Amino acid sequence: MAEVVLHNISKSFGNEAVIDNLSLTISSGELVVFVGPSGCGKSTLLRLIAGLEDLTGGDILLDGETVDLVPPAQRGIAMVFQSYALYPHMTVRENIAFGMKIAKENKAKISEKVQMAAAKLELTEHLEKLPKQLSGGQRQRVAIGRAIVRDPQVFLFDEPLSNLDASLRAATRLEIAKLHDNLPETTMIYVTHDQVEAMTLADRIVVLNKGFIEQVGTPTALYHSPLNLFVAKFIGTPAMNILPCKLEVPGVSSSSIQISSKSIEMQFETVSDQSGAEINLGVRPEHIRISDRKDALIVGKVEIVEALGEFTIIYVDCGFQAPIIAKLSGNLNISKGDCVHLNAEPQNMHLFDPNGKIYKRRSGINVSDTI
Ligand code: ADP
Ligand code: MG
Repeated sequence: MAEVVLHNISKSFGNEAVIDNLSLTISSGELVVFVGPSGCGKSTLLRLIAGLEDLTGGDILLDGETVDLVPPAQRGIAMVFQSYALYPHMTVRENIAFGMKIAKENKAKISEKVQMAAAKLELTEHLEKLPKQLSGGQRQRVAIGRAIVRDPQVFLFDEPLSNLDASLRAATRLEIAKLHDNLPETTMIYVTHDQVEAMTLADRIVVLNKGFIEQVGTPTALYHSPLNLFVAKFIGTPAMNILPCKLEVPGVSSSSIQISSKSIEMQFETVSDQSGAEINLGVRPEHIRISDRKDALIVGKVEIVEALGEFTIIYVDCGFQAPIIAKLSGNLNISKGDCVHLNAEPQNMHLFDPNGKIYKRRSGINVSDTI
């Protein structure tokens, strides 16, 4: 059991501030995923928690005790990296046992722990094999096994699946989800740049950008109620469509928006901004539907059709900088060059202020489990 508290932590390398006054509490047994673009500070954050880097400022607490001066080996933390670096000449059993052997634990205990870890990771029948006889996913599980036998209170994963091909990634992702179920008391912090991994694994997701937390919430909360453009564009695939528009008449409960020379009423509180402000409307591709001419939000010409069987993705030139992407159910009779009218339900539209911050919604669905 371990609660992890990051309290106003900062980290600089020379003049470069990589983590800037970041605070977060991770509950005991929770699986939290840090997600963000490459270079945003995810690995640095994990290395700080593991004690492999020193903090520039702030404190890290494990179960209420500050660990700033506790060396990595004594923090009860295990870290699994992208490159699993197994010893090629040792069997799976020897690889998993290696750390305990070095620590001179007794043979019976080592054997028992290896059996237990192998059972949890479904590696029992592979214990006498060499790494080269295993698939990439199985090798990564051996690396996790090496960490499990240390009975960590906190597991840190740094992009553990990025060396695997797509199908293995999906399978190993499931293994990690199972591991989380099998070790309900172990806190897990998982780093990835892949939002699908984040959405499928996390109890809560932390979206990072340049060393800042943009938003923390459940996958559903981030999907339905992004707080800003960064999160809106980062979570969901294909990414949310962002349509530049103008605030025509600001209001407390209803506002008039001008989009492609058409005026629409939207139930958002926009009084903080002035008429004429340049704002953005966001709609996810799966929330766009083909509409009648009369109730169309926008109209455009189909540029590309991707018929994927289960759904059809169309790219529509509506006069914005980027084409509007619509993900429509089933196979549709739409061809390149067709003129289409598009709309979405009001509760599926998001409105962002000139700084990219979400306007408060005054009606429709509001998912409130975000902080
Ligand atoms: P991520 O894991 O999100 O891709 P990192 O935490 O590895 O990002 O890196 C964040 C930033 O910190 C990058 O700009 C990187 O160049 C810088 N950085 C990381 N480690 C060091 C280091 N040891 N010395 C100097 N700069 C570093
Ligand atoms: Mg990294």
